[in-house]
Order: sequence, then structure tokens, then C-alpha cells
Amino acid sequence: MKKWTITGVDVLTPETHQKKRHVDIQDDRIKSVGKGDGTAQILLNIEDGILAPGLVNSHDHLLGNYYPKVGNGPYENWLPWDNDLKSAPVYQERQQIENRDLYLLGAYRNLVSGVTTVSDHMPHFVAEPFYDILPVKAIREYALVHSVASFALAWGEGISAEYAKAKEQGIPFVTHCSEGFDAETKRDIVTLDRQGGLGDHSVLVHGLAFSESDIDLIKERGASVVWCGDSNYFMYSKTTNVKYLRKKGVNLCIGTDSPMSGGLNILHEMKFDKALYKKLFGEELPDDEIVRMVTANPAKAFWMKNHGQVKEGFHADLTVFRNKGGSAASSVVSAGLKDVMLVVIDGLPVYGEAEFAPVFAALGVKYQQVVLDGAQKIIIGDLVGLLKRISRAVGFKKKFPFLPVEFEV
Ligand SMILES: [Zn+2]
Repeated sequence: MKKWTITGVDVLTPETHQKKRHVDIQDDRIKSVGKGDGTAQILLNIEDGILAPGLVNSHDHLLGNYYPKVGNGPYENWLPWDNDLKSAPVYQERQQIENRDLYLLGAYRNLVSGVTTVSDHMPHFVAEPFYDILPVKAIREYALVHSVASFALAWGEGISAEYAKAKEQGIPFVTHCSEGFDAETKRDIVTLDRQGGLGDHSVLVHGLAFSESDIDLIKERGASVVWCGDSNYFMYSKTTNVKYLRKKGVNLCIGTDSPMSGGLNILHEMKFDKALYKKLFGEELPDDEIVRMVTANPAKAFWMKNHGQVKEGFHADLTVFRNKGGSAASSVVSAGLKDVMLVVIDGLPVYGEAEFAPVFAALGVKYQQVVLDGAQKIIIGDLVGLLKRISRAVGFKKKFPFLPVEFEV
């Protein structure tokens, strides 16, 4: 039985901001949030931290995590972008790397940005062999199709069968949706609904072509939407109608997409989306709402029971951010890589400040010291070894701005 306590920390649940709390962790759960029961032997004091639910990246393709971005938009839909990607020299470079290492790269990119769970849009037979070795959690229980239109990749067993599976098993049904402006893609919501694929298990990624009547129907059916602002803007110079989605109260989540079309990481994405919202609609997107889009909202969208909140009995997937003053949510949204002080997954610390090393050791976590973006950090597994293997595979020292770690080839 592993039992330990984070003390002196401000807690963003995310519905409330509670000051100077003890968060007791036992096994993979939050045992209590309050004054502490005084029985923990292992204590970690983080008085300058904001403890939030571990962030959820609601859309990524871990196997496609590489750099830099490729493309020359605006495109009509994803297909010509995919053709440009696959004919790019950097794609050939990526092909030199083992799939296992690409998965690890994608997982570490997420971890250092405070993500504890990622939705990896990939067929089960491709992804499943890698999930057990990753330093973050990938959502393992999902039904999916690649996208709705007839030119979709042949993932899954089709919309009707996959949605039926999602409903029966209490899991999400994930699909790219309305990602583009050709005549067929613009009808995605109608097509999805006709085939029985639009309901409260549906997680619709992108939604660029959503009309107001599409959004009315999405709300009526109780589906969730994932917004990937940076990827959308890069590929299409447009994004979904976030203002109307908010007005209707649709459950909204944020995802990065892969860094070959989207933003560097979830920290970048939150800031990008906030700025984009202001540019497009002339008003502020509140920080507390953005925090819900990466915590409680995805927990609902992906049917992750007892996740996405800092609450007794919930999963101890937690991220501590440096407290910059102002609102607790603003410390999360404005955080850079250096401000991610601690990441806890399933009750164990997996990434954090170098000074926390005694607590990692006391809990039996095998960690490595790294210098990330100039800051001393410790991280589970062998990140430096991974970066060395990737550099060897491509034949030169490959650097990733989303993993600015010092290493020698
Ligand atoms: Zn995608």
C-alpha cells in the first residue's frame, strides 16, 4: 500500500479554489482533500503550487508525433494534407524510427506538459502493443471510425456498429468530424445522425464545417466536441464555431492533434485557443472554462469515471503548476514547461522538480535526472536514451521544441 501526502498546496478542483490543503493519496486514489489525517509517513510540501486534475489531451496521434509541421494550406479537407505529409522529406525521416519510440516520444511530449491522459486516435491493433510501456495513460477503451465521409481510412467496423459497441460497453465513440469544406464533409453531422452515430457517446473532433443547425443537433443528442485550434488554423485557416458551441452549452474539450499539424503541446494549445477566440469573437474565453476543457469536460466526454476532478475517491491523476498569483486557473493556462512542478499518475509521481527526488525514491519510482528548458527535473523511465535512439535512427542530433532536454548523441 502506497500512502503519501502533498501538503501546503492550493487546490483547483476545478470548480473551486481551496487554499493550503493536504491531499492524501493512497494507492491510485485521492484519499482526502483537507487538513490531512496525520498518518502519512511520506510528505511533499509544495507551498508555491496549484494542484489541478491531471490534464487530458483530447486529441492526438501518438504515432505521428514528430517535428516540424508539414503542409501548405488552406486545404479542402484532410486528404490533400495527408498526401503532402507523406511526400515530405521529414516524413521519410520519421519513418526511420521504430513505432515503439515514436509512441514513447508522443507520450513524453504529453507528460512534460502536465498531461496524464491522452486520447490517441488510432486503430486498436496499431496502438494496443504500446500502451503498457507509455509514461502517460492513453484511453484504452474506445470505439472509433477515422472520419465520417466515404473517403475515410478503413478504421473500425463502421459508424453504426462502432456506436452500438460504445453504447453497450459504456465507452466513447471517437471520430474526426466535419474536418473540411467539400460537399460531403459539410454533411457529416447529418450522415452521422442517420447512421445512428450521434449521441452522448460521440466525441466529434474538429467540427470545422459545423453549421448552427448541426450544433443544435449535437446539443440535442448530447455529443461532445474536441477543439484543436492550432491544427485547424494551420491546415484550414479556420476553426470551429466555438462561440455558438459555448452558447448552446455543448461539452467542449481541447486537443493538440499531432505536432506535424498542430501545436507543440497542451500548454501551447490552451494559450493559442484563448488568443484565437479573442481574435475571432472579440471577447475573452475565461481561464476557468479553458481548464474545464482539459479536465472535467474530457472526463465526461470519454466516459472516464472518477477522473478529471480533485475529489475524495477520484483517481490520483494530478498536475501541480507553479502558482503565479492571480486566479488559480490563470496559473494553469499561462504555464510554460518550467511551471509544471509535478505530475502524478495512478497515485505515483512520474515527473517533477529535481528537489522532489526523495519522495520519488521513497515511493519506489525509478527516475532519471534531466535538464528541461534549462530547469532541473526528474522523470520516469529513460527519456535521454529515447532521444539518443531517435538521433541514431535518423543519423543526426534531432531536437524537438516540445522536449527541450539536454542530451549528448
Ligand atoms: Zn486527428
